[in-house]
Formats: sequence, structure tokens, C-alpha cells
Amino acid sequence: MKLSVPDYILSIKPYTPGKPLEELEREYGIVDSIKLASNENPLGPSPMAVKAIKNAIGKLNRYPDGSGHDFIQKISEHLGVSPKNVVLGNGSDEIIGMLACGLLQPGDEAILPHPSFLMYEITVRSAGATPVFVPLKLLSIDLQAIKNRITSRTRMVFLCNPNNPTGAVVYKKDFENFLKKIPPDVIVVVDEAYIEFVRDQNCAKSVEYLDNVRPLVTLRTFSKVYGLAGLRIGYGVMPDKIANLLNRIRLPFNTNSLAQAGACAALEDTVFFEKVITLIHQGLDFLYDSLDRLGVKYFPTQTNFILIDVCKDADEIYERMLRQGVIVRSMRSYGYPDYIRINAGLHEENVRFIKALEKSLK
Ligand SMILES: *Cc1c(COP(=O)(O)O)cnc(C)c1O
Repeated sequence: MKLSVPDYILSIKPYTPGKPLEELEREYGIVDSIKLASNENPLGPSPMAVKAIKNAIGKLNRYPDGSGHDFIQKISEHLGVSPKNVVLGNGSDEIIGMLACGLLQPGDEAILPHPSFLMYEITVRSAGATPVFVPLKLLSIDLQAIKNRITSRTRMVFLCNPNNPTGAVVYKKDFENFLKKIPPDVIVVVDEAYIEFVRDQNCAKSVEYLDNVRPLVTLRTFSKVYGLAGLRIGYGVMPDKIANLLNRIRLPFNTNSLAQAGACAALEDTVFFEKVITLIHQGLDFLYDSLDRLGVKYFPTQTNFILIDVCKDADEIYERMLRQGVIVRSMRSYGYPDYIRINAGLHEENVRFIKALEKSLK
């Protein structure tokens, strides 16, 4: 077969997700394994979301509301923004894709912190634009260095706050300074997939800076604190001008009716939300104590996951942990060959992780 494929598509390395539990059990013949590799919610989905999804099933013969009217209304009330500023996505990944596809073209540059979420690079390359990597400084996004790398070709800057995989935040003061200093035509995309877990009061929340003048986009997801990763739903908050552009390229029914109903209910489920936050914070504190006891270095986090320095080949530690039925994420593909990343799980999962790590490090 002869295919004419653009070089920029050939330059893309496919995304490798965390290993699914079913795959581990199939390949290694292990039962009762646990997964701490994809920052998923260990408590399951929001019960109110589950109920709403069950109620919506009977109407699956109908197309979803393509405009997502009711759900967008709920989000806009939740955040105190206008419905015109909200765009829904099949996960926030889809919004990242729409931003790149709708606003970047070959010759354009997009600045990405490195290491950070791998989807930014994939989508920037898919649009034929050039990713420009700016290394983290002490594991945090280096806003000063990013500002210095802006040229007349820079169209977009991605910030991940807090950053995946390091868990560090961008501070309010630094973010405000950054917004003041960058050219007014550079689109700033702030991915806040983990913002609900942040304990540091000085963390920037980009929605507060939405003014329909500066090109600022906030991304949020239902995949983490709301426990709906399998449902695929997220959204972006942005000036109406950018929202209108994205709505031109958005597939008419990109978010399905179950996802809209489930996520809408999840936003109201404050009992579940609080339960998740408490569990994760207690889990992280337990993991900190246990890692201290083992003398293993880690980076304090503002998310639901921790970056751990295993001081050994992370791929090998990953393998050893797999054999004990514990799925972690090796950070080799992120450029940290000696680090693993895990999310806080249920208490018994955290205990099991620590035991397996202790054994794997011997
Ligand atoms: C998990 C995650 C997302 C969420 O993606 P969805 O497509 O909404 O599931 C987005 N950004 C980062 C940095 C993440 O870690």
C-alpha cells in the first residue's frame, strides 16, 4: 500500500496509556491486581452520576443535545461564567485537539513545558505546528523561560496546573505577571485536570482571569475527582470568540447523552466530591510517611498522584511491581528514567503499593 503521509504525522509517537488491569491479569495470570498508573479515582464514579446515567439510558434512541444546553448551563453556574464561554469535549483531550487543529497551522510554534502531559505534543504535531519545549525548573513550570522563548511564530502556550507528572503548581502572582508580559495574540491554554485536589491556597485558578479580551483557555475534566474517566467528558472555558471557532470544527454530537447527564449530576454530588478529596489527601499523607520510612525520595504534590524517585531503572521497577499485581507508571517516556508515578488509591491499595515497592527495591 502506498500512502502519502505528512512528515509531521510520521513524527508522532503514539500515546501509551497506563496498563489496563484486564491486560495485566490476562498476560501474567494474576488475580486481584491493583492499578495506580492513570490517576483514576479509586472510589468509583459519583453515585449521583450513575443514577442519572441509568435514567438517561431509556432515551438512547435519540441523538444527544448537540449544544449540550443543560449541562453547559450547569457548568456556567458552577464557575460563574457565561454559557457562551463553555465548550464541551469528549474528555478534555478532545478540547486540546480542537485547539491545536482549529488554531495552529504549519509554521506556527506552540510552547510546551517539559516534561508535562504528553497529549500537548501529539496534538501540536497533528496540526503540523512545531512544539517548542521549555524544561521545568525544580520540577515546576518555568514561566520566565517560557516568556523568553516566545517569538513572532508563537501562537500558543500550554500550561498544566498543577503539572502532570510532577504535581507542582503555578502561583497566582507568577501567573498574573506572566499574563501581563506576553503578547496579546498568544493563546494561553491552562490544563487544570487536577485543580480540585490542590491544597496550596496560592495556586492560580485561570478561570478568574477570563475576560473575553485576552486569549486564555481553561481546561477541566470529569475524569479525575468526579470518577468518570470511562465516560469521556470534559470542557474548556474560553472567550466567546475562541469558543465560536471551536464550535465550527467540533463534531455535532461529540459528547454523548449519557456523558452529559452523568457529568451534570456529578457536579451536584458534593458529598461524593468531599469524600474523594478527603480520601486522596489522607492517602497522600500516608504515602509520604511510608516513603519517608523507607528512605525513598518523592516530590510533595498538589494533585492525586506522586512522582517517586526510585533511584533505579523505572522500567525494571515497573516490571517487578507488575509481577506483584501492582500497576504503576514508569516515567521513562516522560524523560525521567529513574522515576515512577502513582496515584493515591484506597488505603488498602496504598498499603499494598508500599509493600510491593519495598520488595521491588531490594
Ligand atoms: C487526566 C488528564 C487529563 C484528562 O483528560 P480527559 O481527556 O478529560 O480524560 C487532561 N490533562 C491532564 C494533564 C491529565 O493528566
